[in-house]
Amino acid sequence: MQHRLIWFRDDLRTQDNSALVAALKDDRPIRLSAVFLTANDDWSRFGYGANRLFYTEQVLRSLAKELSLLGIDFQVVILRSYLEQVKWLVEYCQTEEVTDLFFNQEYQVNERQRDLDVVDLVQSNIKIHEFADRIMLQAGDVLTKENNYYTVFTPFKKRWLNRIKEVSYAPFTLPSHHAKPSPIAQWAPLCNASESDLSSYATSETEAIIRLDEFIENGLLRYESTRNSPSLSGTSRLSPYLARGLISPRQCIARAEALLERPIWDFPAEAFSWINEIIWRDFYQHLLVGFPRLSKNKAFRANTESIRWINNEEDITAWKNGSTGIPIVDAGMRELRETGWMHNRVRMVVAQFLTKNLLCDWRIGESYFMRYLVDSDLGANNGGWQWSASTGTDAAPYFRVFNPVSQSQTHDPHGSYLAKWIPSLTALEAAKRHAPWTSNVNINYPPPIVDLKTSRQRAIDVFKDLRK
Ligand SMILES: Cc1cc2nc3c(=O)[nH]c(=O)nc-3n(C[C@H](O)[C@H](O)[C@H](O)COP(=O)(O)OP(=O)(O)OC[C@H]3O[C@@H](n4cnc5c(N)ncnc54)[C@H](O)[C@@H]3O)c2cc1C
Repeated sequence: MQHRLIWFRDDLRTQDNSALVAALKDDRPIRLSAVFLTANDDWSRFGYGANRLFYTEQVLRSLAKELSLLGIDFQVVILRSYLEQVKWLVEYCQTEEVTDLFFNQEYQVNERQRDLDVVDLVQSNIKIHEFADRIMLQAGDVLTKENNYYTVFTPFKKRWLNRIKEVSYAPFTLPSHHAKPSPIAQWAPLCNASESDLSSYATSETEAIIRLDEFIENGLLRYESTRNSPSLSGTSRLSPYLARGLISPRQCIARAEALLERPIWDFPAEAFSWINEIIWRDFYQHLLVGFPRLSKNKAFRANTESIRWINNEEDITAWKNGSTGIPIVDAGMRELRETGWMHNRVRMVVAQFLTKNLLCDWRIGESYFMRYLVDSDLGANNGGWQWSASTGTDAAPYFRVFNPVSQSQTHDPHGSYLAKWIPSLTALEAAKRHAPWTSNVNINYPPPIVDLKTSRQRAIDVFKDLRK
């Protein structure tokens, strides 16, 4: 009898899971097992924080119940490293006579190497079934005419849209599978507590799908006009579910297409704007494959490695604590620490403030985000940081430094996002909340740690010198 092992990673769902669906496709009697392997020491080296691990733990508990209903024996195995994962898999496959191993691909350099090692070691006896599931189009499937990875988003998107028309991208249906429920897996927790309050996040794929449906119904058609306002629920807030794999990008697109009754390439601009973000998501994963140095703490633009970052400890602490005296930056950093999430516009503002106004190395911000974000994901996080720091591919031009005060005035005109995270600002009229130092009212809030005008010019000069 075949013994099929499904190896779960950041794809913690049963619906539209390429590896699981493929493993379940068979009428013959088969033995089905599933496993999730941790790599505690490696993950701590990569900076995965308690928020991500605690959240993963909650999601695994709900996945365990779904798998038990499908009659699949599931176990969570606590290991220290990817090396141990490889050893564990090789041994397990041997002792349990596994005939087929199913998994969905990951694109960071360490994960890819680990998967190659597994394939190398077990291949002669075991059939490997691996799938592109995290992204819409396989990395390597969207290349330039010269067969290179794209480094600029717009031509990538054009090619991506042409290619998607040629493939099937509908979600997979779980084959009907009749088996007696298996016992629900038990394991010692991956992590006992989070650093932020994560109680508002969906922890099961069913709840995550409900959130997706709510967004599609109520938010998709106004996305373009509301996406940049941090005080509105103008974006989907689905990133934790996409990052940990409670939902798939295929499901997102299928639901959007069902609402609008047309394929994405015929979407009106308001709704296409959201699809554009899903394409950015793919772009950053493709970049990880095309440019492995991105997984190794290296700048995409090699010449920016010579920047002499100031990395002033007091500035960094103020930035992390949300006490820089620049309200939009502090509000974002407090939102991050308290909830494990931050609005995209504010992510860009705090990242530019750290890397440009404070002239601190983008890697400091990247790893701090990695520690707190529930949606932490190397591709998107590294992409976002290197974009903001002008060290990345297709990055913000170095001379276009965001002014955090005008960003705040434009995107939070009533100062309600600011007041939510910095309650002392409610004592000020809305117009003064963006720059409290211009008000005569005394409030409990620090003065700015840096002059925005001179620090902006300093950053521009540093980057200009680099060009010479
Ligand atoms: C400095 C910085 C760091 C970031 N770190 C991460 C991270 O670790 N993980 C992460 O998922 N996103 C990251 N982003 C991208 C983006 O901020 C979040 O994906 C977005 O805020 C999530 O909110 P949402 O689900 O409401 O997004 P929506 O606007 O509703 O977008 C839908 C989905 O598209 C994807 N997406 C949206 N914007 C981007 C983007 N710019 N790049 C890649 N994918 C995107 C996300 O999966 C998101 O859930 C980062 C951005 C910046 C500027």
